Amino acid sequence: MIRELHEKLLARKITAVELTEQYFAVIEKKDKGLNAYLTLTKELALEQAEKVDEKIAKGEEIGLLEGIPGGIKDLILLEGVRATGGSKILDNYIAPNDATVVKNLKQAGAIFLGKTNCDEFAMGSSGEKSAYGPTKNPHDTARVPGGTSSGSAAAVAADMAVWALGTDTGGSTRQPAAFCGTVGLKPTYGRVSRYGVMAAASSLEQVGVLSKTVEDAAIILSEISGQDRMDATTAQSFGKRYEDYLTGEIKGMKIGIVKEYLDNLGDQMKKTIEDVIAKFKKLGAEIQEIELPHARYSLPVFYIINPCEISSNLARYDGIKYGMRVDDKKETDVTDPDGLPKTLLETYLDTRKYELGTEAKRRIMLGTYALSSGYYEAYYLRAQKVRTLIKKDFEEAYKKVDLILTPITPTPAFKFGEKMNNPVDMYLEDIFTVTANIAGVPAISVPAGMIEVEGKQLPVGFQLMGEWFDEENLLRAADAYEKGKSNG
Ligand code: GLN
Repeated sequence: MIRELHEKLLARKITAVELTEQYFAVIEKKDKGLNAYLTLTKELALEQAEKVDEKIAKGEEIGLLEGIPGGIKDLILLEGVRATGGSKILDNYIAPNDATVVKNLKQAGAIFLGKTNCDEFAMGSSGEKSAYGPTKNPHDTARVPGGTSSGSAAAVAADMAVWALGTDTGGSTRQPAAFCGTVGLKPTYGRVSRYGVMAAASSLEQVGVLSKTVEDAAIILSEISGQDRMDATTAQSFGKRYEDYLTGEIKGMKIGIVKEYLDNLGDQMKKTIEDVIAKFKKLGAEIQEIELPHARYSLPVFYIINPCEISSNLARYDGIKYGMRVDDKKETDVTDPDGLPKTLLETYLDTRKYELGTEAKRRIMLGTYALSSGYYEAYYLRAQKVRTLIKKDFEEAYKKVDLILTPITPTPAFKFGEKMNNPVDMYLEDIFTVTANIAGVPAISVPAGMIEVEGKQLPVGFQLMGEWFDEENLLRAADAYEKGKSNG
């Protein structure tokens, strides 16, 4: 899609300003019903588009992404623009600088339509945990779009952005992509800078890409990846252009499947994955059964490590350094009725009590408990040990295969409210996605068609996981499947 739009811009069939305005027209029409955007940046977008048009008019060369409009998850900083992270506690927060990924995309000439809705500080699996109201699934507005990059997925699916950035701590790019019928890419841990991205669980998360096609995800990855001196966890990417690896050729590629995963799926999802496997065979890939013996502990490991890191990262939102402060005038039960100004501690407590959502508080409590003296060894330390075992499973698996194919979600998009009463029900949604974050490997969610549920057609997808820093093979296989599908 990006390449086609690029050709159109070059052939002067459309200007970047017209293209940008077209996208704002769609947003205007659809977003009241979907709530995918929290902030629109029309002025900035048109300014960016004008610059691209000037270049084209002068006959200067333009890059693939120049003039192509997209959205940025509200957890990622765009200088001078409000960034809430889906939380009330940052309701008044204006980003003081660009995240490295945003800086890179600006340099590439991409256009920013606005900031997209998300579950508060990247906690959730449905898009229902944003302080600014849920995003709706464009395929059925009675259903969730998935989370936490819910606005990014809905925006791409509903043609309100060509591409969007998300983040992925445990599936937040891939799961909404699957529910909305888009591609969702989580790069290898360390592939993309996290500087200027609000930290949730630092050892697990990466910036992700949502797009209509695998090639589009590759194009965005080429721009946002690479070493950054502002993020010591980043690795060199040697200026790779990932789109150049999409040859469509995967003969002899070895793809591992985990039988246990398929056995536990419902009929329709199982059939979807079986069809995908058959397609890969037809394309010349070799399918092999593999085992990831410790992967079954991924969910408990994730839901210990994640809250521990969240409890620490969210400590910065205290009413002093960032965002909202519950001030003396607001009556709260912590304030003494003695008329004296609040103490510092009272300000902290009131601010966090009234401005953070329930899930944030739940994770802070779980994490603080698991890290506390006397419980640290039993929870956090043990989870880290099992994490190492899970990584070793992947090391073993990648001695035999190039990629691992799994389901991406247990079911298609569920209905609003369905999993809100029991946090564990919501956590179980992440069963197929968290493993890649625990191991740090790259993973992609690829659309695999639609299935009918209660009279509605809902998108479903599958997941491929690659070897550390081997986005090339991951994208190549995903792209070959996508091309193979459209060629019948
Ligand atoms: N659903 C997971 C959670 O709530 C992962 C979210 C994410 O990837 N940010 O923590």
